[in-house]
Amino acid sequence: MDKPKYKRILLKLSGEALSSDGEVLEPSILEQYAQEIKKIHDLGVEVAIVIGGGNIFRGASAAKVGIDRVQGDYMGMLATVINGMAIQASLEKHGMFTRLMTAIKIEAVCEPMIRRRAIRHLEKGRIIILSAGTGNPYFTTDSAAALRAIEIEADVVLKGTRVDGVYTADPEKDPTATRYAQLSFSEALGKGLKIMDATAFTLCQENKLPIIVFDMNKPDNLTKLVQGEDVGTLIS
Ligand code: UDP
Repeated sequence: MDKPKYKRILLKLSGEALSSDGEVLEPSILEQYAQEIKKIHDLGVEVAIVIGGGNIFRGASAAKVGIDRVQGDYMGMLATVINGMAIQASLEKHGMFTRLMTAIKIEAVCEPMIRRRAIRHLEKGRIIILSAGTGNPYFTTDSAAALRAIEIEADVVLKGTRVDGVYTADPEKDPTATRYAQLSFSEALGKGLKIMDATAFTLCQENKLPIIVFDMNKPDNLTKLVQGEDVGTLIS
């Protein structure tokens, strides 16, 4: 087995990725993700996960139900804690040791995100799940992923999606669309490609933190990727 290319990764999973039609949390997806994460963990890769909350609540839709944005954003952050607990449970079912950390205090279920402690957990082989985003309204979990990856000195941000990378056009609408294997940050900006929100993208660019957008639903993709195979799109 090849030595992994990346020693420490930050895996960003959206909340919606965990859901399916009618199910807020789809058990088969949780199961599949746990299996994929176990494979890279068994290779010795240190894994931090930032989880979104879009399957449960997004601050941007708070206005529709008469709730102000800041309140809605905190509801969205709490949603990420629920998803984090679900991922924690499924990883532990597969024998992995985990710590659920949070950017807003919820003592009964998670520990506070303290950078040095987070790094220590990784060094001890524990998978850390970083919930509640940045802890601040008006941010997204993509920004949290970029911020936490920089803080814990991850080698790369892996953005797991349902498509296998960044395309020249929407592959579902344009059959001639092709996947970019690699892009520089300035090429991605110049082409107006939406990789992550602007805050997250700028944080990665300024700190020279590579991003790989890849299809998390394809078996073994995550393993191939950490071993340096041409999977997804690398932005660096
Ligand atoms: N959120 C926030 N601050 C953060 C991260 C998230 O206020 O640092 C809120 C925001 O309302 C967001 C929601 O949490 O809509 C869920 O996160 P996100 O939309 O990023 O989840 P995803 O799209 O990845 O499922």
